[in-house]
Amino acid sequence: MKKRLFIFLIIGLIGSVLNYAGGDKKSISSEEALQKLVDGNLRFVNGASINPNQSSQDIERLSKGQYPFAIILSCSDSRIPPEIVFDQGLGDLFVIRTAGEVVDSIGIGSIEYAAEHLHVSLIVVLGHGKCGAVTAAHSDGEVEGYLNKIVNDIRNNISSVNREENNSLEKAIDVNTKSITHQLRESKPVISELVEHGKVKVVPAYYDITTGKVDFFK
Ligand SMILES: [Zn+2]
Repeated sequence: MKKRLFIFLIIGLIGSVLNYAGGDKKSISSEEALQKLVDGNLRFVNGASINPNQSSQDIERLSKGQYPFAIILSCSDSRIPPEIVFDQGLGDLFVIRTAGEVVDSIGIGSIEYAAEHLHVSLIVVLGHGKCGAVTAAHSDGEVEGYLNKIVNDIRNNISSVNREENNSLEKAIDVNTKSITHQLRESKPVISELVEHGKVKVVPAYYDITTGKVDFFK
């Protein structure tokens, strides 16, 4: 009896070691993923970041495969690196960044890869205060080169915003984030189907550039 218990314990131990070595292969729910982001951002805001998963052992562990728990589509703005503001490390977040977080087929394809092949169940669209890209789109100014495509896409997203209104720039930032969220939820055939079957959630969020705090919306 004692021998059997011992064998049972050893098998359990080997199982957990193998699971650890290969990373956590079991994908977590969108609710659990969101909670991890909320907790990490709270640590960051409170100056209590633990900078997880950044050791040489983590590099070695992750060389065998990646199992990120959230996809973050954020602005390229240098002030909001997702791994830092959510206090995460290597292998935790699958990140796509563009100015104004607008996405075309290449960005959506990258998101599809993580959602479908890495089984990530949460997509966060992260807008932020004082966004330069949205500010440019919100003004009459002309831009040159490929930046034009970005500004035009944002202008389409925020066409419903009345520029004469109070706080219209803040409103434009909000509408842009939510419009991109809608674009992803409706993106056919991959993301829309994952959303429909409850396998993926797309959540808009806002990063406050003055406090470091992220607010999530529905
Ligand atoms: Zn921005």
